[in-house]
Amino acid sequence: MMEQKRIAIYGKGGIGKSSTASNVAAACADEGYKVMIIGCDPKSDSSITLLGGKRIPTILDLLRQKIEVKEEDIVHEGYKGVKCVEVGGPEPGIGCAGRGIIVAIQKLKKVCKSIDDMDLIIYDVPGDIVCGGFVAPIRKGLVNEAYILTSGEYMPLYAANNICKGLAKIDTPLSGIICNSRSVTREEEIVRKFSEEIGSKLMAFIPKEQIVQDCERDGFSVLEKAPDSSVAGVYRELAHSIMSNDSSVLPSSLEDERLRELTR
Ligand code: SF4
Repeated sequence: MMEQKRIAIYGKGGIGKSSTASNVAAACADEGYKVMIIGCDPKSDSSITLLGGKRIPTILDLLRQKIEVKEEDIVHEGYKGVKCVEVGGPEPGIGCAGRGIIVAIQKLKKVCKSIDDMDLIIYDVPGDIVCGGFVAPIRKGLVNEAYILTSGEYMPLYAANNICKGLAKIDTPLSGIICNSRSVTREEEIVRKFSEEIGSKLMAFIPKEQIVQDCERDGFSVLEKAPDSSVAGVYRELAHSIMSNDSSVLPSSLEDERLRELTR
């Protein structure tokens, strides 16, 4: 039996973590893997494209209502049987998002026995900083592979570099970098160089294509709505690379000046 992969995708907010996570989930489900996606973003947007645009209640919202939460309340089956879960966020101004994730996952583990049978669990982690709260899933052993999503622009790379610092600090290896293109000049080359210089590798270059946004707006993954598009093929290859990836390294981080040079 294959070892369960529990991956987290880190990266600057708004860089496309949720759409990458849901398209990878769909591609893996197409391949017959048992997949669960755990959306940790307060906007709940990682599962929505696997559920035909439907929003599901978040674990933290249900817990706040003090109701006895059952599996069917929080685990919703989407495209090709992908199990979708949304953690939800803390109440504005109170609490810690990272702590909330732990509370929610503990509840999920209690009520959902099938979590152990999954081949792949994807944590769609919020935010672009690796603060103590956001690395909580790693510290608690819930995640065994970390990926970073970036584009070739300076700010997402700056965030990616910071995430590398955070991962190194907690002694957690990085399994790869994914580039979600923003149509920057020499983008693939920039992100490939960055990946190599931190000691990692570029897993995929996802081109910027309108069809991804169009499918998302309609509540679908590209794999479901436009399976013959070329970008669907890119997600398929990325999914394959993730499922067969067995190497990871403790990333080094770059000096600010080198980062600037890379993007010049
Ligand atoms: S530790 Fe992180 S997640 Fe928790 S409150 Fe601070 S910034 Fe937010």
